[in-house]
Amino acid sequence: EEASAREEATLREAGVSIVTGRTVAKISAEEKTTSSVTLDDGRKVPCDLVIVAIGVRPRSEIVSDIGIKINRGIVVDCRMATSSADVYACGDVAEAYDFIHGENRLNPLWPNAYLGGRVAGFNMAGVRTEYQGGLAMSSLKYFGLDVVSVGIVIPPDDSYEVISNIYDDNYRKIILKDGLVVGMVFMGNIEKSGIVYSLIKDRVNVNSFKQALVACDFGLLSLPEERWRPHLEIPTSGVILEVVSVKQAEEIVAGE
Ligand SMILES: Cc1cc2nc3c(=O)[nH]c(=O)nc-3n(C[C@H](O)[C@H](O)[C@H](O)COP(=O)(O)OP(=O)(O)OC[C@H]3O[C@@H](n4cnc5c(N)ncnc54)[C@H](O)[C@@H]3O)c2cc1C
Repeated sequence: EEASAREEATLREAGVSIVTGRTVAKISAEEKTTSSVTLDDGRKVPCDLVIVAIGVRPRSEIVSDIGIKINRGIVVDCRMATSSADVYACGDVAEAYDFIHGENRLNPLWPNAYLGGRVAGFNMAGVRTEYQGGLAMSSLKYFGLDVVSVGIVIPPDDSYEVISNIYDDNYRKIILKDGLVVGMVFMGNIEKSGIVYSLIKDRVNVNSFKQALVACDFGLLSLPEERWRPHLEIPTSGVILEVVSVKQAEEIVAGE
């Protein structure tokens, strides 16, 4: 995969050794300090520190004996309500709606936790509010290489369309389903990735301008006018009622 290969090359260039397809069989310590890990192929790798980063598993078992519905996390509806009356869940422990996949999933990220918590809070206070759904996303910078990935980055079948572009040291990939952007990867120059994120979030059909999304000069003005005008807050000509005269700035003489 293009993005992974670029990331790997950057890490190797910085002196990082990468081992894939193996797991740790043993961690050894000498005088209470980690000294090495042994891989399942017998290789021994000396080290000072072991960091385990193997994903997030919610501790949903804390509600298992009170009959609340659990799948990979605590299952909630669009109000963040669990299967038990007046009990709500949100954040990493909740399996809430993912609008890209169209089903409940674990998306253990801070923005999803914040939005879900807000919805749960409103509903607990009696104000009916619905969670619009979360999605997977990450933004990283390793050794000077910026990477943003959102939603589905590996199309699961042929019904998805992939558009990509490589220019200079930059890589862009957009994944579409029925005219909607369902995923993206931006590498290198990630400056305009927020615009694509807003198209994903707002479920905008991009069929008429999809190629522009990966172009090297992509920006807000690549979108149809009705999309960028509200962002720039430029009133349409019909609503300009008064032209305010602009006072010429006074010249300031240095030293006064
Ligand atoms: C190393 C790391 C890096 C991350 N980086 C990012 C990032 O860059 N961007 C991003 O969006 N997200 C990131 N996340 C994820 C983000 O931190 C979580 O999505 C977010 O904190 C979830 O909030 P939460 O309130 O659901 O859970 P938490 O923040 O985990 O809070 C749960 C709290 O419940 C307490 N608790 C647990 N069990 C019990 C119990 N039985 N009784 C009482 N209290 C209990 C815990 O001590 C904890 O304080 C990162 C997570 C980790 C671990």
